[in-house]
Amino acid sequence: MSLFECDVLVAGGGSAGMAVAIAASRVGARVVLLERNGFLGGMGTAALVHTICGLYVVREDEVVEPANPGIPMEVAQRLLAMGGARGPVHMGKVQVLLHDPWALALLADEMVEECENLTVLLHAEMTGVEGDDGGWEVAAISRGQEVKVRAQAMVDATGDAVLVSMAGAPWRQVEGARLQRPAYVVKLAGVDQGVLDEAGRLRLAHGIAFGVRSGELPKEVLGAGVRAGANVGECFLTMDLAAGGEAYDPLDATMLTKMEQLGRRSVGILVDWLKRKQSGFEGCGVAAWPTRAGVRESRRMEGVYELRVEDVLEGRRFEDGIARVAWPVELREKATGPRWLFAKAGSVGEIPLRSLRSAKFESLFAAGRCLSASHEALASVRVMGTCLASGQAAGWAAAMWAEKGVVEIEAFNQRS
Ligand SMILES: Cc1cc2nc3c(=O)[nH]c(=O)nc-3n(C[C@H](O)[C@H](O)[C@H](O)COP(=O)(O)OP(=O)(O)OC[C@H]3O[C@@H](n4cnc5c(N)ncnc54)[C@H](O)[C@@H]3O)c2cc1C
Repeated sequence: MSLFECDVLVAGGGSAGMAVAIAASRVGARVVLLERNGFLGGMGTAALVHTICGLYVVREDEVVEPANPGIPMEVAQRLLAMGGARGPVHMGKVQVLLHDPWALALLADEMVEECENLTVLLHAEMTGVEGDDGGWEVAAISRGQEVKVRAQAMVDATGDAVLVSMAGAPWRQVEGARLQRPAYVVKLAGVDQGVLDEAGRLRLAHGIAFGVRSGELPKEVLGAGVRAGANVGECFLTMDLAAGGEAYDPLDATMLTKMEQLGRRSVGILVDWLKRKQSGFEGCGVAAWPTRAGVRESRRMEGVYELRVEDVLEGRRFEDGIARVAWPVELREKATGPRWLFAKAGSVGEIPLRSLRSAKFESLFAAGRCLSASHEALASVRVMGTCLASGQAAGWAAAMWAEKGVVEIEAFNQRS
C-alpha cells in the first residue's frame, strides 16, 4: 500500500481537474491528483472531444476577448504554440479553439511536470473516501494495489461527482429522458477538406437522413455530423446517441456497455456507407477511436448555490463570481441535434464561488462538469474553456481552505 499526505486531493484529471491541480500547486499547496486513465485531459482526450468552447467572449462590437484569464488562456496559447490547436475560429455566433485531443494530453503532462509540489497518479481509480472537515482519507486502486491519500481539502473533478457521492455529500441528477445525450466520436482521415464547410456538412446531414429513410442506414446514425480538426487533412465524426431514451443512466455499467458497443457498430456502418455513397469521403477511414464514449451529463454536486439558467441567460454577476460564462446554453436532450439558448445581447454571466462548494462540507469542492448547476445551466458551463476556469478557481479555493480553514473571497479575487 502506498500512502500520500497532501493539502489538496483532486479526483479526476480532465480539463477541470488538471486546472485545479496546477492552480492549487502554483499557490504553494501540496497536491495529489488521482486519474483512472493513463493520461490527462478527460473527455477532451479520452472521448476525442476536439474543440475547446467557452474560452472567448464575442463582444457586441465583434471584438473577441478572453473569457477568463490565467490557466484557460495559458492552455490555449501553449496549445497554439506547440501546433496542437487552430483558432479562434467562428462557429455560428461564437468563437472556439479547435484542438488535437492528444496535444492536450501532452500539454497537460508538461504543465503538471512543471509543478514541484504536485503528484499525479495515473492509472489510479478512486474507490472510497472517509472523513470530514477535520481531514479526509481517500482510497484508490492501481492494478490491484491500494493507494491511500490523506488530505485537508478535496476537489471533485470526476465529471460524475464520484467523490461527492462517496463522501456522503448531496448530489443531483435529472431523469434519463432529460439528460444530455452521450455521443461517440472518431477521427477520420482521407476526407476531402472541400466537404467540411457549412454547405458540405448540410449536404451530408441530408444524405444521412435520406439513407435512414431509405433503409440503407440504421436510425442510430441520424445524429451524426463531421467537423474539421486542428490539423489540416483530418476531421472528426460525432454521433449523438439516443442511448436508451428515458431509461438512459450514464452511471450504469450495463447501459455504458451497450452505449460503447452501439457507438462502435454504428460508426463502422456509417463509415462504410460514406465511402460508397458520399462524394469527398471515398478514401476515408477511421484514424483514431476514442478510449471511451462521451458522456455530457450525469451527477452533479449539490452546492451552497445552484447556478440557474436565468443567471446564465440574464448575464448575472455575483459578489463571489469566480469565472465568466462565455458559452450559450447548448441542450442536447435529443440525439437529433441541439437546442440553443443565448444570453441577453452584450451580457456575460458568472459562476459564483458558492457553486463550487458542497452544501454539506466546507472542505469539499467541485469543478467542471459536476459543479453545482441546474440541468439547463450545466448545458452552458460544462464546456472545456469554462471547466478550465472553474477548475482554476476551485484549486485556489481548496488551497486556501487547506491553509487557513476559510476561503476569503477578497484575497481570492486578488489572484485573478
Ligand atoms: C460528445 C461530446 C462532445 C462535446 N463537445 C464539446 C465541445 O465541442 N467543446 C467543449 O468545450 N466541450 C465539449 N463537450 C463537453 C466537455 O468535453 C466536457 O463537459 C468537459 O470536458 C468536462 O470536463 P471535466 O474535467 O469536468 O470532466 P471530464 O473531462 O469527464 O474528466 C473527468 C476525469 O475524471 C476521471 N475520473 C472519473 N472518475 C474517476 C475515479 N473514480 N478515479 C479517478 N479518476 C476518475 C476521468 O477518467 C476523467 O479523466 C463535449 C462533451 C461530449 C461528451
